[in-house]
Amino acid sequence: MSVTVTQETYDSVVIGAGVLGCSVAYALARDGRRVCVVDRNASAGSGSTSASSAIVRYNYSTFAGVASAWESAHIWRDWAHHLGTGEGTGLARFIKTGGLSLDAPGQDRQKVLGLFDRVGVPYEVWDEARLRERMPLLDTGRHHPPKAITDDAFWDDPTGSLTGYWTPDSGFIDDPQLAARNLMDAAVRHGARFRFRSPVVRVDRTHGADGTGRVAGIGLADGTVLSAPVVVNVAGPHSGAVNGLAGVTDGFRVRTRPLRQEVHEVRAPEGYGPDGAGPLVADLDLGTYFRGTPSGGIIVGGTEPECDVLQWLDDPDDYGVHPSRAVHDAQLYRAARRLPTLTVPGTPRGTAGVYDVSDDWIPVYDRTDLPGYYVAIGSSGNQFKNAPVVGRYLAAIISACEDGRDHDTDPVEVDLPRTGHRVDLSHYSRLRTVNRDSSFSVMG
Ligand SMILES: Cc1cc2nc3c(=O)[nH]c(=O)nc-3n(C[C@H](O)[C@H](O)[C@H](O)COP(=O)(O)OP(=O)(O)OC[C@H]3O[C@@H](n4cnc5c(N)ncnc54)[C@H](O)[C@@H]3O)c2cc1C
Repeated sequence: MSVTVTQETYDSVVIGAGVLGCSVAYALARDGRRVCVVDRNASAGSGSTSASSAIVRYNYSTFAGVASAWESAHIWRDWAHHLGTGEGTGLARFIKTGGLSLDAPGQDRQKVLGLFDRVGVPYEVWDEARLRERMPLLDTGRHHPPKAITDDAFWDDPTGSLTGYWTPDSGFIDDPQLAARNLMDAAVRHGARFRFRSPVVRVDRTHGADGTGRVAGIGLADGTVLSAPVVVNVAGPHSGAVNGLAGVTDGFRVRTRPLRQEVHEVRAPEGYGPDGAGPLVADLDLGTYFRGTPSGGIIVGGTEPECDVLQWLDDPDDYGVHPSRAVHDAQLYRAARRLPTLTVPGTPRGTAGVYDVSDDWIPVYDRTDLPGYYVAIGSSGNQFKNAPVVGRYLAAIISACEDGRDHDTDPVEVDLPRTGHRVDLSHYSRLRTVNRDSSFSVMG
């Protein structure tokens, strides 16, 4: 019996229809490439993007991090124009809340504020009196280092008081999955095709007579072959597995690993921000972060304090998808120390998602040793906000490399038109030595 194999040919195949994959697809399609995006899930943005807190903040530890976030914020604020569509319903919205970052040992505030000055991100430095005046619901006590709530010392009195800095332009995107769908729709308007329920099981390559080769396309679980001279791995927490299919893993100095994460939602205390626009608070003193939600709640996440055991996964599909009592209580009680009028509910409510964490918590946007095979991976719990520029970064790298430039030795730079900065994309190289400037946490 003969088996019919369906074969289709494209200029580029993107593996993964999360917010980053859809952004890459949109940028490539806008450049005139015939793009096919494949995803094993049933819809765009239903992987780790759907669990995202979607916070838009600017306090990264590197110039590229701050500049990318600041440029992206300008795009989020002008989303309809970026997508080439009219304003109206059905678009994700940027909700500006302002964001407070509390000072903590190990956080180099001067370095971050220096980067803000260089990039042009507005901020105010708050002493304790200003903190109390501007955010009266917050307890300003210093508790560092963060402790497990099972440790009696967690309940100790504070050892001093806090200061911090405020970025008035911080906020969040109200629906991260919708943002991915918006990018998908924009890519489709430029001719891109999306195939859902289509797991990639093979990355194909050609073998040249001289022993070299290049990517030739991918194979799907149903036997379909998609031929393309360019394949981009944007598989989120599955990035390592897909790199394994392509046989490129050994060419990476910076590796990626899946890490389980929980985010919890509770009712906001009375007076926490107007109309669901309660500000973002990044609290590395206690090891938590929280922000308001449009429905009058607060979502609470963690910042990987040393006292917590991180839940690294061998298999990104094999994890508890429901929030656990232990993580819920740890994150909520930390938040409640900072916001004493917050009620910690008896039943955990929230979501568990998976970060795709690189060795230095900075993503890898790069070519690989297999010509034609590219990656946008290692987003480390902090790249949702940068999705608008990441598509452009990959399109620039792909265009240059396919034109014969060696991005490893002659790095591509990208101009950011809305803010006037230029980012050297070697910052995101797979060949970098681990970046010691990083916070080595979700802060990037
Ligand atoms: C709990 C949580 C909170 C976060 N909070 C923030 C935040 O506040 N701010 C911020 O900036 N960032 C945040 N992030 C990070 C941000 O959400 C991610 O960086 C971003 O969503 C990653 O998008 P992606 O497209 O790379 O991955 P994903 O959305 O995971 O998409 C990858 C896609 O690849 C598909 N795929 C995988 N393997 C295959 C295969 N073999 N074949 C076909 N398809 C495949 C998957 O089905 C999936 O749809 C958070 C992340 C999590 C998990």
